[in-house]
Amino acid sequence: MLEILRQIVQAVNNARNLDQALSIIVTRVKEAMSVDVCSIYLCDEGQQQHVLMATEGLNPESVGNVRLDFDKGLVSLVATRAEPVNLGNAPLHPRYEYFPQSGEENFHGFLGVPIIHHRKVLGVLVVQSKTPEQFSEDSVTFLITIASQLAGAMAHAAASGEIDRILEQNEHYIDHVKPLSGLPGAPGVAMGTTLVVYPLADLKAIPDRKVEHIEAEIEAFNLAIERVREEITKISSRLADVLPAEDGALFDAYLLMLDGESLSGETIGHIRGGNWAAGSLRQTILDHVKLFKDMNDPYLSERADDIYDLGLRILAYLQSENFKPVEYPQETILVGEQISASMLAEVPVSKLKGVVSSSGSRTSHVAILARALGVPAIMGAKDLPVSRIDGQLMIADGYSGRVYVSPPPAVRLEYARLAEEEAELSSELMALRDQPATTKDGVHIPLYANTGLVSDITPSLHSGADGIGLYRTEFPFMVRQQFPGEDEQYQIYREVLWAFAPRPVTLRTLDVGGDKALPYFPIHEENPFLGWRGIRITLDHPEIFLVQARAMMRASVGLDNLSILLPMISTVPELVEAKILLQRAYDELVEEGINVNKPRTGVMIEVPSAVYQADSLAKRVDFFSIGTNDLTQYLLAVDRNNANVAELYDSLHPAVVHAIYQTIKSAKAHHIPVSVCGEMAGDPAAVLLLIGMGIDSLSMSASSLTRVKWVIRNSTNKHAQELLDEVLKMEDAETIRHYLNSRFEMAGMGGLIRAGK
Ligand code: PEP
Ligand code: MG
Repeated sequence: MLEILRQIVQAVNNARNLDQALSIIVTRVKEAMSVDVCSIYLCDEGQQQHVLMATEGLNPESVGNVRLDFDKGLVSLVATRAEPVNLGNAPLHPRYEYFPQSGEENFHGFLGVPIIHHRKVLGVLVVQSKTPEQFSEDSVTFLITIASQLAGAMAHAAASGEIDRILEQNEHYIDHVKPLSGLPGAPGVAMGTTLVVYPLADLKAIPDRKVEHIEAEIEAFNLAIERVREEITKISSRLADVLPAEDGALFDAYLLMLDGESLSGETIGHIRGGNWAAGSLRQTILDHVKLFKDMNDPYLSERADDIYDLGLRILAYLQSENFKPVEYPQETILVGEQISASMLAEVPVSKLKGVVSSSGSRTSHVAILARALGVPAIMGAKDLPVSRIDGQLMIADGYSGRVYVSPPPAVRLEYARLAEEEAELSSELMALRDQPATTKDGVHIPLYANTGLVSDITPSLHSGADGIGLYRTEFPFMVRQQFPGEDEQYQIYREVLWAFAPRPVTLRTLDVGGDKALPYFPIHEENPFLGWRGIRITLDHPEIFLVQARAMMRASVGLDNLSILLPMISTVPELVEAKILLQRAYDELVEEGINVNKPRTGVMIEVPSAVYQADSLAKRVDFFSIGTNDLTQYLLAVDRNNANVAELYDSLHPAVVHAIYQTIKSAKAHHIPVSVCGEMAGDPAAVLLLIGMGIDSLSMSASSLTRVKWVIRNSTNKHAQELLDEVLKMEDAETIRHYLNSRFEMAGMGGLIRAGK
């Protein structure tokens, strides 16, 4: 059974489209379980009905025509219960419904299992038999496993509109649009053309892309094949003396595959069909891989890896020979499975309208960058059919996390209206630029900007920020080929300190590790967020820390607006050691005759242990800055980049709210100022709570600044404290968010937390 299961799962994963996956399943399952019928029903939310989508055993004519209302029939019973229903004699069950056109009169045994994706029932998989007997435990678990595999394919098909298209062919279909859901990454709404980006040499991630110059594509493909042939011939002769003959034969097999008609011929066929060379190559290679993997012979099935490897080699040449600068659409929505900060940085700012990534969450660094650039971002859109949506019209709603691929005119019109309202709201907000962030009852909360991208200083300056509350120094480290030297760093820091003087600037010492890697300082760890990160690295490498500290202090000479912030402090000795190093850097500079002033020193409170030791830390520093991004991830044990658990990641979780409150109280008890510099500071709903707790300042991406200012200017400290009192009694994040959002709508500030005004 296990082997059959493996084969079916593989066949479903490799199926070209949903129709093919469904028909593979019904045929193979019927055969494997020796049943008389296997059918798949799909939930049609628009019609509130279950539709028969594929069957082996019932009348094939009934596909698309048998429809069961959501509250009728055994199929619906399975869907509402969201668990298997296993009956020996189905016609005797009170929910049984008989459909004459399906020809199911003779079947007694009934087993239905729900097809569930992320807690949502998408359809029902059913087997039926003539024998009036219940199905065995093994049959039930077998069918559940198949259904769980089918769920992913179905969710994908729903997201790409494929299911809608299938349903559309049916006369009962009513026009409705289902958006695809992701997580809100950066606020705003955008409509534009998708551009799918992918890591170089990742064959599976290559999207389909239409081409006009077919002959040029074929030529490029032939050239790549030729290059790979030369490469393999070279490797083969180089290794001829050292490899045993049977291993060397692998290269001959590669050459045979390259020369053979099937690989080239099929790829060229796909190109002639209008797909570009890389997409055509992906189609051919994946087809061949599937063919080999499906073979029962273990030797042949392992050859699938060789074919894939060959595909990668061809792709590498195709990409280098064919390298053309990417042509970004006028209104680009950047789409990808894993969008890196540098992919985002490559898009001309004037063309970038939005970002949609199938991985990551609100606090991934790509989302932080999108926010800094003021464009909406949707993260963790897991069901995004990335390879099939290049060059399509897309609407991205960064408030709700909804994405519409090729939306119909009605949706487009609605979003165009919302975008217009957004623009109005933004210009109204811009008018607040030079106004102070003071509540109606006179509490002033300075608002600082988070930055780190050099090109990012201008928006921060223009946003009316009272200074820089968090300068992430790792970004300039990340875009270089080696550690920047002291003078190079001095230039970078001097530019920011000078641009903002006399306003304060907080430079954070290097916080690499976790999801921020330096290309020239690789760290390989099983669990990088719990590993060698931030201050842990720089204390182990005092040479890096001292150079950075010296550069920072020198950059502040004559300006004296520098504060130094230490990331990832989890113990008191770490802070003590870091302070000794800072003192050393200072003493050295004084000895060298440089007229430096001692900067203020603060710690990030972003690890739970730091919350519990806030009193001990507060005694030793000049200020606290709460890093809610990491604090949330570490308190809730939810990886901030993992889309699978992203729904659990919420900075309004009561544990996080209480931890922040406790930190603020400790800071107050020790008379040091405390700020929040995590993404929570830019979340209008959370800002009210932070004011109620007595936060001294907030630091956020420049694009959130005027929104937050508006919230502050329209609220009173007294009201914020009342809200906080209520929230502190609540027991889950959703209740808290709901409560805060409803207060926002009541106060006429809904436009700050959703699309529109
Ligand atoms: C944080 O953790 O909240 C923070 C501001 O730092 P980063 O996002 O750079 O880890
Ligand atoms: Mg952090």
